[in-house]
Amino acid sequence: MRFLVAGELNLDLILRNYLSFPALGQETLVEDVTLTLGSSSAICAAGLAKLGNTVIFTGKVGMDSWGELCLESLAKLGVDASRVMRDAGVKTGITVSITSPRDRAMVTYLGAMATMRAEEIGARGIDGFDHLHVASVFLQRALRPGLKALLALAHARGLTTSLDPGFDPEEKWGRDVIDLLAEVDVFLPNEVELRGLTGFSDPEQGLRALENDRTLTVAKLGSDGCAVLENGTLMRVPAFPVEPVDTTGAGDSFNAGFLHCVVAQALLPAAPALLPAQTSVQATPRSIAGRREDGAPTGQSPLRQALRFAAACGALSTLAAGGTGAQATEEQAKAFLKSRG
Ligand code: ADP
Repeated sequence: MRFLVAGELNLDLILRNYLSFPALGQETLVEDVTLTLGSSSAICAAGLAKLGNTVIFTGKVGMDSWGELCLESLAKLGVDASRVMRDAGVKTGITVSITSPRDRAMVTYLGAMATMRAEEIGARGIDGFDHLHVASVFLQRALRPGLKALLALAHARGLTTSLDPGFDPEEKWGRDVIDLLAEVDVFLPNEVELRGLTGFSDPEQGLRALENDRTLTVAKLGSDGCAVLENGTLMRVPAFPVEPVDTTGAGDSFNAGFLHCVVAQALLPAAPALLPAQTSVQATPRSIAGRREDGAPTGQSPLRQALRFAAACGALSTLAAGGTGAQATEEQAKAFLKSRG
């Protein structure tokens, strides 16, 4: 499938396994350090490419060595970076990520991430794709005002759309993001983002608050798995227990796995097309996570199968430092699913 990812680009400086979490006026040590391609959008793009899709990235970086490194890294990861714009007037952004096996804290300099406008993508940039994915709306400040129109344009041109809101560093969680959902087929917030946007700590209440006629919302709940509403009923899919090295980008790799399944199987737009359990096996053009390949019980709905595949991609991605270091191919994800029964 052909994916367009309209996103922010930055490097990640990952400081892995702190002795104690940094505190003002104190110095702490970490076990390891890596400078690698970061950004939610880029990690998802790389995950989609690893799964065998054609992925073209549109975004903006500065005319600096960090920007160069972003472009080189995208290319190495199999993502077409030819539509990434370069602007001498801004610096390429960076995120410093301070991690432990359990979680991470991040500090970001936005730079070029905040400067791409929807109008710079336009109709010509959208034509010829199956799907448009956008992430980190709160960081992509210049994209946000024109994003609804861009998503609507994508729909008008026959693409499906997805949005991962990302964290709002200002914690304002504007209503305009919920308003975007009218033009979003798959919405992929994590637990914190769902709470920020809806005010509900309980994922089920958060999911219900976002219900509309179009959007399938997947609440990503870290090592607790994920949750969706399937035909109005809460469905939870557990995470696969692994011993994570670095959870950076797990949600983005999860997104890639999920979008890979639902776009390839034409399960979008939205929940009504995600068929009930008894029709699942016959209804899917190709079984991505069916019984013969992964040992999953028969009768699993396409939605559950796609979520299990996504969870496998998320879990596998935690097994190396950086967001893209351990992303799965389709075969690897299937083999993992099979091994976990
Ligand atoms: P985000 O990175 O956007 O915050 P999550 O942390 O919720 O997203 O991770 C997305 C998915 O990746 C989870 O639903 C789960 O399937 C998988 N995942 C994340 N962390 C772990 C973990 N520690 N062990 C196993 N799977 C994980």
